Amino acid sequence: MLKARSRVAVGPLRRPVITPIPLTSVDALVEELRPVEPMVAIRPRTLRRTAERFVTTFPGDVLYAVKCNPEPTVLRALWRGGVRHFDCASLGEIRVVRSLFADAQIHYMHPIKQAAAIREAYETFGVRDFSVDSAEEIEKIVAATNGARDLGIYVRLAMPKGQTVYDLSGKFGAPAAEMPALLRQARAAAKVLGLCFHVGSQCMDPGVYERALELAGRVIAEAGVQVDGIDVGGGFPVSYPDVTPPALGAYFEAIQRGFARLGLAQGTRLWCEPGRALVAAGASLVVQVEARRGDVLYINDGIYGNLSDAGVPKWRFPARLVRKADGSAVEASAETTGFAFYGPTCDSADFMQGPFFLPSDVKTGDWIELGQLGAYGACLRTAFNGFDRVLLTEVRDEPLLTTPGHLDGSDAIVGQPADRTVQA
Ligand SMILES: *Cc1c(COP(=O)(O)O)cnc(C)c1O
Repeated sequence: MLKARSRVAVGPLRRPVITPIPLTSVDALVEELRPVEPMVAIRPRTLRRTAERFVTTFPGDVLYAVKCNPEPTVLRALWRGGVRHFDCASLGEIRVVRSLFADAQIHYMHPIKQAAAIREAYETFGVRDFSVDSAEEIEKIVAATNGARDLGIYVRLAMPKGQTVYDLSGKFGAPAAEMPALLRQARAAAKVLGLCFHVGSQCMDPGVYERALELAGRVIAEAGVQVDGIDVGGGFPVSYPDVTPPALGAYFEAIQRGFARLGLAQGTRLWCEPGRALVAAGASLVVQVEARRGDVLYINDGIYGNLSDAGVPKWRFPARLVRKADGSAVEASAETTGFAFYGPTCDSADFMQGPFFLPSDVKTGDWIELGQLGAYGACLRTAFNGFDRVLLTEVRDEPLLTTPGHLDGSDAIVGQPADRTVQA
């Protein structure tokens, strides 16, 4: 039989040999490694503490949306913070999670799946929960699992447009008018029937969740079936430059209110699927300036690398000049300028408008820390033009930005002195 071989174009993140790990800070790492490749600095303690906050204050179960950052170091830190449920959208994500945690609860929450992937998820990886948004997908799941009697089926409700910064309303979800029939069909096939939605990413208004739950209540009432679970999806926001969202608690309160108002049976489960909010602060990206032309910096990473969201979506990340007192550098100027970036590839679309605010005298050879890139950073990179090498490191310093309600500050991180680092 002819077998097609597939290979991965993007190499794994490379880990320099560091003794002992982790070092204290991005500054210490830059001084020691002087990285000429982009460097992802993961903050396992920030990840663990953010996870603890979510798990202990959300009034239900927290499913981590793995697509946001599937790096094993990140997944382990979330696990240590108490996350036991994982929202996966592909067999690839399911394999990674299962290989790390034999006891993880994995949920396959992509509404359009291949039959073979459903079968493998069910038979090999113990997945029982699946999301759907069509009659065809319900039939597909039933057929692929040979009419299994222990399925959890979550019917995804479409959301109105324009509720969030990053709209996801166009692609998935059944219109409210189709929901009652789908809920009845899924009820007949499922042991556990759920309703799920995703309001979109970086949702700045807690009321959006309450209104979504209200709409969910209407379609459930119309369907006239018992629903065993509600999944309010992701979309919880984080701070970006000039953007401070309402505190996390305001979101959880809105969800709690909206959920209570549905008047569902005692024991009905409540889930959320945060991605961005759990991991954004958990990693910074450190880039180096390769050339400066006016207020435009040519850096060693770009939209085909770890900065995809800084391109067309024009996402702005907090920026900090990392210039160490190593003899070669002078004190940075107090005056700041808003810079735009070009990435390393030959494509003129490899452009990041920013503005990224940095000391006005930033120059070739300087390093820049870009924050909030634990979410939708490294996971989006490609190998285009041969720029696919990224260093992976761990740090214990504080993130560049915090989000209200994520960390309460009472368990502030105490830094340790920098130790020796040796590059592989
Ligand atoms: C992407 C995604 C999430 C996570 O969204 P965030 O905005 O990063 O929280 C959650 N659920 C589903 C179904 C998704 O596609």
